[in-house]
Amino acid sequence: MLLKLVPPTVPDRLTAMKNRLKALPRPDGLCQCPRCGNRSMLTEKSGVFIKAGRKSGGTVIVKDVCAACYRAGIYSPMVPTLEPVSPSKVVPRKR
Ligand SMILES: [Zn+2]
Repeated sequence: MLLKLVPPTVPDRLTAMKNRLKALPRPDGLCQCPRCGNRSMLTEKSGVFIKAGRKSGGTVIVKDVCAACYRAGIYSPMVPTLEPVSPSKVVPRKR
């Protein structure tokens, strides 16, 4: 079988816009969606009370996800989390 090198295709308008947004310079620490480049973050809470003009309580349903991706039904976390993996869940690498 002969392998051929396929030249990269020209991205469509939406993909080109996403790539351009992701490549924009940003201040250190500014959160940006790794998927679409959006900078709006969303946290969804259920059961929030308003007492004396202040919000209180509530259960966090979704925290720190991209608002644009969430509207499209995609879960894209904007804050990276590093969680320890328990040794029982580590799958040994096959050699
Ligand atoms: Zn996004």
